Amino acid sequence: MPSLLASRHIACYDARQFSASHPMSGKQLEKTYEPKQVEDRWYRFWIEQGSFHAPLDHPGQPYTIVIPPPNVTGSLHIGHALNNTIQDILIRWRRMQGRNALWVPGMDHAGIATQNVVERQLTAEGSSREQVGREQFVERVWKWKTQSGGTIIQQLKRLGASCDWSRERFTMDEGLSKAVREVFVRLHEDGLIYRGERLINWCPRCLTALSDIEVEHEEAKGKLYHIRYPLVDDPNTVLIVATTRPETMLGDTAVAVHPDDPRYQQLIGKKVRLPLTTREIPIVGDAILVDLEFGTGAVKITPAHDFNDFEAGERHKLPRISIFDDHARMAPFGLANAQVEESVRGKILQLPVKNARSMVVEALQEQGLLVKTEDHKMSLGKCYRCKTVVEPYLSPQWFVKIKPLADPAIKAVEDGRIKITPAGWKNNYLGWMRDIKDWCISRQIWWGHQIPAWYCRKCNGKVLVSTKPDGTWIIPKEAKPIVAKIRPTSCPTCNGSDLIQDSDVLDTWFSSALWPFSTLGWPEQTADLKKFYPTSTLVTGLDILFFWVARMIMMGLKFMGDVPFRDVYIHALVRDVEGQKMSKSKGNIVDPLHVMEQYGTDALRFTLASMASPGRDIKLAEERIEGYRNFANKIWNAARFILMNLDGPRETVPPKDRPFADRWILSRLNRTIREVTVSLEQYRFDQAASRLYQFIWHEYCDWYLEMIKPVLSRVEGPTLQSKDSVEAKRTKQTLVETFETVQRLLHPFMPFITEEIWQTLPHHGESIVTRPYPTAEPGWDAQDVESEFAVLEQFVATARTGRSLLNYQPGKVIATYGTATDHAELAILQKLSTHLSHLSKATVQLQPVAQWPAQNVLRLIIGGLTVGATVEGDVDLRKALERIKKQREEKTKEASRIEGKLGNTEFTAKAPSEVVAEHKLRLLAILQEQDLLASSERQLQEMMK
Ligand SMILES: [Zn+2]
Ligand SMILES: [Zn+2]
Repeated sequence: MPSLLASRHIACYDARQFSASHPMSGKQLEKTYEPKQVEDRWYRFWIEQGSFHAPLDHPGQPYTIVIPPPNVTGSLHIGHALNNTIQDILIRWRRMQGRNALWVPGMDHAGIATQNVVERQLTAEGSSREQVGREQFVERVWKWKTQSGGTIIQQLKRLGASCDWSRERFTMDEGLSKAVREVFVRLHEDGLIYRGERLINWCPRCLTALSDIEVEHEEAKGKLYHIRYPLVDDPNTVLIVATTRPETMLGDTAVAVHPDDPRYQQLIGKKVRLPLTTREIPIVGDAILVDLEFGTGAVKITPAHDFNDFEAGERHKLPRISIFDDHARMAPFGLANAQVEESVRGKILQLPVKNARSMVVEALQEQGLLVKTEDHKMSLGKCYRCKTVVEPYLSPQWFVKIKPLADPAIKAVEDGRIKITPAGWKNNYLGWMRDIKDWCISRQIWWGHQIPAWYCRKCNGKVLVSTKPDGTWIIPKEAKPIVAKIRPTSCPTCNGSDLIQDSDVLDTWFSSALWPFSTLGWPEQTADLKKFYPTSTLVTGLDILFFWVARMIMMGLKFMGDVPFRDVYIHALVRDVEGQKMSKSKGNIVDPLHVMEQYGTDALRFTLASMASPGRDIKLAEERIEGYRNFANKIWNAARFILMNLDGPRETVPPKDRPFADRWILSRLNRTIREVTVSLEQYRFDQAASRLYQFIWHEYCDWYLEMIKPVLSRVEGPTLQSKDSVEAKRTKQTLVETFETVQRLLHPFMPFITEEIWQTLPHHGESIVTRPYPTAEPGWDAQDVESEFAVLEQFVATARTGRSLLNYQPGKVIATYGTATDHAELAILQKLSTHLSHLSKATVQLQPVAQWPAQNVLRLIIGGLTVGATVEGDVDLRKALERIKKQREEKTKEASRIEGKLGNTEFTAKAPSEVVAEHKLRLLAILQEQDLLASSERQLQEMMK
């Protein structure tokens, strides 16, 4: 792979000197821009050139991004497109700035999602995961991964992602798996991994845990039972509790009421006697669990048998009493723990749920504790394989003790070692981290990193492994320097060798939490790790700030002793044009692949960048993409115009010696370079895109190219020594310089079209990808020229307003008059009169109004300028009047809309000050335009008399 350094010093290439293998060999720009013919060609060229590779010996300061690894099952959606466009803009920009830019790509093994894909295949073949067994199943998943996984990688390439593909990683590859085991072992040694109880979905028929997506929910008819719970202090007072599952009440460990409920407030802290048992349980106040409006306002808390109750139990530190066995039958041990009355216990022991329920209801009735029974619709979770009702079931799991990891991660954001942009999300992060719960890291599936913990069959033969406490597990010690072969060989208690590995795997987020350092080679101390860690920027959506970003920060600090990245940039979510979430069922999905096919990749990228303003949502309208496709076409047409005008000699002179239009565009370009760079530094992709669009479309194409057309069209002969010829040569030089600079400035946003155009322009280097990003040139600034241009622009705009009010054909040259109250302004108009005529399509006479014809000149006054447009014979004055009326109405509407906004204190208080200022300026401009229209209306009415 050629190094970047080499390509930097390659001699000047001119447009027509390519080697035969070069993508531009023998090429001119086609008549219209055809993205499809361009994109693939350049992407392959970049790969062949090694343009995206970050060599270790690059002298630049590293700039590193690790990709949020997409699922191996994934396909590019619009959220990915936004996320990766932003990363690519940053990487391309920094690379061009001379940084050693590394974008590390890769994929996530996506435990459950991937396992489901292969399970569905097996089902179709009439087989199942259980039938093939774990080992073969996992082999099957790997085979699927090799053959069909990773479609998304091809799609990212299509998007133009300039990742260093030589460093692509996968969360289950050998290196990353080693990192996962190392982290598990070290956390365990530090006392940060433990066994704890957690509710899981359990199928009592299949005897397996189910993930959330393996539970099918359906509506069912049930009953709501109202039960009396007598107060311990005062058995005549009862709390009435409503439940659909009376049999689980035996496992209640509290009753909850709303803390603001005047009926029960005074009872909080007191106790009730739990019916059918000898236990007393507390009354707690819980605003999350209790809905003031629903039922009786009192609910039972059964932490071992309900997910919400489990959480409530956590909040109030309640004990958990599980009353079922693996088959969801009333377990002897459970009933003993629950202290169920002897008479009841004998009737329900070993009964399955359904039968136990009627026995419990019967017993309540006998004791006069059942108030009433009502019909009730409820949602039932069923096993996706056997349709048995799924039970929330208490089961031991592996946990990470999180507080010791969270504290340093809080500090790193508080003290600014990690900066979150937009800053508003910092408090969300801190709030969440301060309230963080221990992390349950085990999952009862087969595809993933199997937990490196073993137990001895001889010592634990009779105990079900799922119920085993932490102490009986054999977890290897950290083997310095790294855990290579981690499997323990013998039991430390009996020295036996019949060891069984825990069948659970780790949560997918466990491996992705290590991503910023595991992808660079950790636990080995690789050169990559030393060079590129900490990484620079993490680009992510808000939805995984806690699942992923927070955990990377914790793990990076713990295992690398430093933050994993300096900046976190959080982008908004892409929604449809009405602000609704995109979904298949709503049919409002914008498919990025379809968009790229139809409008070109650059148009999609520019759209996403232009909409990436700080906030929660992006409302994506397809018309916008179309608009930026037109932008690409505009640039393309400009390129064709410029290329047609580059023949003949060019002359380089200092900017100050160049013609007015050239000096102006150089100065504007300088300003644009500064603004775009500052916007990128602040992650304001929207502002950068907007500036680029304004500059290229309006300033460059509409004004500059228009202004220089007469210069370029002047015929040059070999003997011509005139001023015109000198001007043309200098303008051609400016044209090349500015347009080549514009391509580099735009490249990170629209990589394909800029490369295609840049290659046809005179340039240095092999590819625009590795050319320097433009920086402001001190000699280009010309404030005086910009001020003069402002006068010219005002005059031309006013003259054009006159033309359009009178409805002249665009090509028709009319007589125009002009004057200015300010002497300096008048002098500017005189100096620029050739431009005035050309741009206004008019003969322009600059003289005091008194010397203008007395009749048939429409005088348009704006600021200190007065422009006169002749009203010639064929102008229909009545129609002109109508146009003016219509325009005035529109202006009035617009003015009142803006006035309304500015009068709204919520807007003025919340909107950024620059937005408010823009609104005020716009309002001023409208008021001026209204004056102008009113005066024109009066004049036309006079003329019609
Ligand atoms: Zn089942
Ligand atoms: Zn043993």
